Amino acid sequence: MHPGGGKTMKEAHTHVPVAGNERLELKRQRNQLDLRLPRNPIDLDRLVLRARSLTERRWTYRMKQGVKALSFYLGLHPASWKLGAGEAAVLFYHKVERRPLDVWGEPVLDVHEFERHVAYLAREYRPVSMSELIAGLRGQTRLPHRAVVLTFDDGYRNNLYLVAPILARYGVPAMLFVTTGLIGGNQWMWAYELEELFSRFAPEEIRQACGDPVVARLCALGLEPRALMMACVEHLKDLPHPVMLALVERLRSAFPLPVNDENRFLSWNEVRELRRQGFEIGAHTETHPILTRLPLEEVERELLACRDTLEAELGIRPTVFSYPNGATNPEVSALVGRYFEAAVTTRTGFCSRAHALLELPRIGAPVHVSELAFELAWNYFRLEGARPGLWAPRE
Ligand SMILES: [Zn+2]
Repeated sequence: MHPGGGKTMKEAHTHVPVAGNERLELKRQRNQLDLRLPRNPIDLDRLVLRARSLTERRWTYRMKQGVKALSFYLGLHPASWKLGAGEAAVLFYHKVERRPLDVWGEPVLDVHEFERHVAYLAREYRPVSMSELIAGLRGQTRLPHRAVVLTFDDGYRNNLYLVAPILARYGVPAMLFVTTGLIGGNQWMWAYELEELFSRFAPEEIRQACGDPVVARLCALGLEPRALMMACVEHLKDLPHPVMLALVERLRSAFPLPVNDENRFLSWNEVRELRRQGFEIGAHTETHPILTRLPLEEVERELLACRDTLEAELGIRPTVFSYPNGATNPEVSALVGRYFEAAVTTRTGFCSRAHALLELPRIGAPVHVSELAFELAWNYFRLEGARPGLWAPRE
């Protein structure tokens, strides 16, 4: 399923230090015990409500968008200009698309809007590399004021063909977090594959093919297709990783969809090319599981398989890790700390020296540049509000 994975997995097992640490072993057992129980009883109402709230565009949402756009064009976002030394915003992106709308007709980050992001960040902030950020957070170097780091998760091919030329034009560095099992293959990231599938096939067809009682019940509710897709994806994320993979595999064989250009992953040669162009390369597991839903020995296997494959393919050992879906807990972070120097989550906020290097927050890049400006300013206020002297002038 994942090219080259078998060999790496075997090697990884021989490298794993057998848990000599009793405390870790105890936590390991507890984690396994937790995994035998479903995290929550299946609550269809919760899934449906959440999916609807994500898909319905209320007037308040449109008003907020309007305010953000207006404040951006009037230049009313200088709050973050005062962002001090030792603090930084880490942004995370995934794909950049050629078209401005997705399969549902919803706005997505296209290449023109992405260029506006980069131009804005290069003008108003000080883009630095992840290495510079980590050295700064460790107190080894001084971070510039308004430091910002760009990161890209997963390893999509459009990062080379659409993203890299724009970053090169503005001289902005970036870090790519690679899911090694998907590199060089023809597979989709499963959630995008389901999005495509639900946009093309009728709920009744999916209901008959899925073989999962919750997906079947959701399909019978008469939901609007995008809300149905979101509810099903939320449900799948809650399942144990092997159960989720089996369900995706069943849908995949019932509705085979060739991966499209936007969703294609990089080849190893293309990852090497990005590195040659100055991208820093970090680890993002081998198969992209939600690590908090795996037994700890599986987490360890994912970390080592990814790290060792990157080392074999690129000749450098990655030192920074990105948690799939941003999901971590103290046990997972401790394990990541054995093999990596730093790790990023999707918890929103700015990084400062107060943050543990293994759970650095990031800000999800929104679609429009006006929203990006607003997010940065808003998170700056949150950071400033948390300490005394909110309005004190700073150097
Ligand atoms: Zn990811």
